[in-house]
Amino acid sequence: MSGPNFRTLFLGEVDIPPAQRDAIAESRRRNFHALAPLAAVHSLLTAVVLTFAFWSAPAMPLVFVWCYASAVLVFIRVREARRPPVTGAGAAEDRHIVNYTLLSGALWGAIIAALVASSGPEHHLLLGILTAAVLCVGALLHSGFPAASLGYSLLVGLGACVGLMFGHHQWAMNAALLLVGGVAALQRFSAATHASDVRRMIDAAELREAKETMALLLNDFEAHSADWLWRVDDANRLGPASQRFVDASGLPADILEGGSILALFAPESAQQLHVLLKQRKPFNDEVLRVSIGVREGWWSMSGQPTADGGWRGVCSDITRSRDTEALIAYATEYDSLTDLPNRAMLVRQLEIAQEAVETRGEGYALFVIDLDNFKALNDTQGHPAGDAFLKVVAQRLRDCVGESAFLARLGGDEFAVMRRDFMAEEAGELADLIVDALLAPVFLNGREILTGCSVGVALAPDNGSDPAVLMKNAELALYRAKAQGRGCARFFEPGMEESARVRADLETDLRNALAAETMDVYFQPLVNTRTRKTSGYETLLRWNRPGQGLVSPAVFISCAEETGIIIPLGEWVIRKAIEEAAHWKEDVPVAINLSPAQMKNPSLVATVIGALAASQLDPSRLEIEIVESVLMDETEHNIRTLHALRELGVKIALDDFGTGYSSLSYLRAFPFDKIKIDQRFVRDIDSSSENQAIVRAVISLARDLGMRVTAEGVENEQQAAILAGLGCAEVQGFLYSRPIPASELEKREMPVRNGANVHTLRRRA
Ligand code: C2E
Ligand code: MG
Ligand code: MG
Repeated sequence: MSGPNFRTLFLGEVDIPPAQRDAIAESRRRNFHALAPLAAVHSLLTAVVLTFAFWSAPAMPLVFVWCYASAVLVFIRVREARRPPVTGAGAAEDRHIVNYTLLSGALWGAIIAALVASSGPEHHLLLGILTAAVLCVGALLHSGFPAASLGYSLLVGLGACVGLMFGHHQWAMNAALLLVGGVAALQRFSAATHASDVRRMIDAAELREAKETMALLLNDFEAHSADWLWRVDDANRLGPASQRFVDASGLPADILEGGSILALFAPESAQQLHVLLKQRKPFNDEVLRVSIGVREGWWSMSGQPTADGGWRGVCSDITRSRDTEALIAYATEYDSLTDLPNRAMLVRQLEIAQEAVETRGEGYALFVIDLDNFKALNDTQGHPAGDAFLKVVAQRLRDCVGESAFLARLGGDEFAVMRRDFMAEEAGELADLIVDALLAPVFLNGREILTGCSVGVALAPDNGSDPAVLMKNAELALYRAKAQGRGCARFFEPGMEESARVRADLETDLRNALAAETMDVYFQPLVNTRTRKTSGYETLLRWNRPGQGLVSPAVFISCAEETGIIIPLGEWVIRKAIEEAAHWKEDVPVAINLSPAQMKNPSLVATVIGALAASQLDPSRLEIEIVESVLMDETEHNIRTLHALRELGVKIALDDFGTGYSSLSYLRAFPFDKIKIDQRFVRDIDSSSENQAIVRAVISLARDLGMRVTAEGVENEQQAAILAGLGCAEVQGFLYSRPIPASELEKREMPVRNGANVHTLRRRA
């Protein structure tokens, strides 16, 4: 916008937004027409005054002519004012107004000029007032059209000046100057009034437009969003309710309107809202619990105080998202199966407990619990049974630890208990309680399931200052409990870290050895006690561990089993042993040890078939040795696998017999070809009559069941003699040979014992 100039100062020009020009022009015309009666009254009054004042003066005929012309003009103006506006005729109408104003100015100017020029001193005052009044009233009546108004004032002023000049009045020049000043001031006033009127109209139009936009937006908001508007007066009574509000509240509009907004909420939320409303400060996204009859839910409200002491704002129903949020929060903190807190929650509790350690020196104990044999249950009876079992376990643990401790499920069959504020001996008691709680059998679908658990305990701050360290140490203690036969609790001891590290190294080396094929199979002969001939060989894995020499499987098999390395390793042993045996000259059997983990491997039978086919070894020469635990875990599957192997013609032997706790029942579970009596019964057989009795009983039982018997670990002649006397047909032990590599088999001559023959194996060419 440019600075002040003639047009802005004296014509009151204002930039009008194009969209508002028509409306403002129309409004100016309306205002102009509205003053038509005032103009008429002014003209009539002037006509009356002039008629009386100049009745006997020579200028009376002029006054009469003026009165008549004015009456016509006033008539035209009043008629124009009463005519309804015609659309599109604005410009013509403006022209009429300007013409009328100028005509009116000319008429006033003419009569003033004539009277001022011809009148005597008795009329001077009257004419002075008349001129001023005509100018002032004109400026007032025509202020909506400053240009016309300027024309009007100039014509009137000009008339007065002409009159002054021709009437040869004293002070004429001074009066003319005053007139010019007056006209300029009046015009400035008129222009300023006009400009401010226009600006007011622009502002009003803009405000109207903003209100309309707002109304449109609000309508759109109500129609398309899930939110609604609310409004209350200074007594918290609801104003008009939209359909959304009605739907959300479930109350009819006439009940909502005028009712207290607080009545829609549950007491604590009503109280919360009441406090907010009293504070008279805007609030946002306040979550409130709704309680309308039976309808319960959550609304999020925002509000703004209004000038009339009330409030208005927006509200939305967040019941569903809040329920979802609650579900999500639950899922992130709780285990959905057992409803126990999960690992994340436990970690948070440990952190809180840790703070208490640091600030108040309060110790706490962490128990990590792992179920024994759960995996077997899950695999053999299916996951639904496994889940049901875990629920029972969770309840037992809950009953066991009660309110005194924090119980969580870490995942799978692992649970944890955190107990604060305890005495050291109490931790031991609680650990024993937990072990005992899971000893009693669980009855599921009419079946009795025996489980048991191992527990690892770590104490803060003695065994770790950080929750993660404490958790790791409790796991180490758990690992020790499992390694020591399960079904027991162990406390963390500093050496455990070292053994864990040793184990981790072992695992790494084992994987490397498998990849680099630095393992070997050794063979130990089985000897027939009657013929004293080698009746077969047992394959025993050997590992030449870098830096440690030849390592026995007793050291690494459990690690291979736990890490799953046993599967590829076992397959390698099967192929290697069968390949070696196929080269032997004598058709003696070859025995291979299989771990329980290998029995679970679905490709076991295929591996055996593949190896037999590749080496063309008669399946009847292959003997598989399994241990009792194969029949404890996953019984049905394992027995099926054993039958599948048996159908190939492979023999099955039960190894280490007597080391399990219900040995005899397993002999009925599967018709083994052979039983191998564990070396611990053989070791003292010469001194322990009890061991002799056991061996005798086993031999007689095996004979009844049609099974052969082998005694392991025979180290001296005395043992060999006793075993032979008891009717044991086959023996194995250092007395005859240590396990030897395949390459040595052909060279090796069996030592002559009691004049027995020498048995030499030669490899086939
Ligand atoms: P096992 O099947 O009972 O094997 C017999 C173990 O007794 C062998 O130990 C053998 O060296 C040892 N032994 C033989 N005669 C005597 C004796 O007169 N006195 C003494 N003290 N010991 C004797 P090794 O080779 O250390 O194997 C230990 C166990 O590791 C085996 O027990 C077997 O269960 C397992 N094993 C060995 N090789 C394999 C394999 O390739 N796969 C699997 N899954 N397990 C294997
Ligand atoms: Mg064996
Ligand atoms: Mg054995």
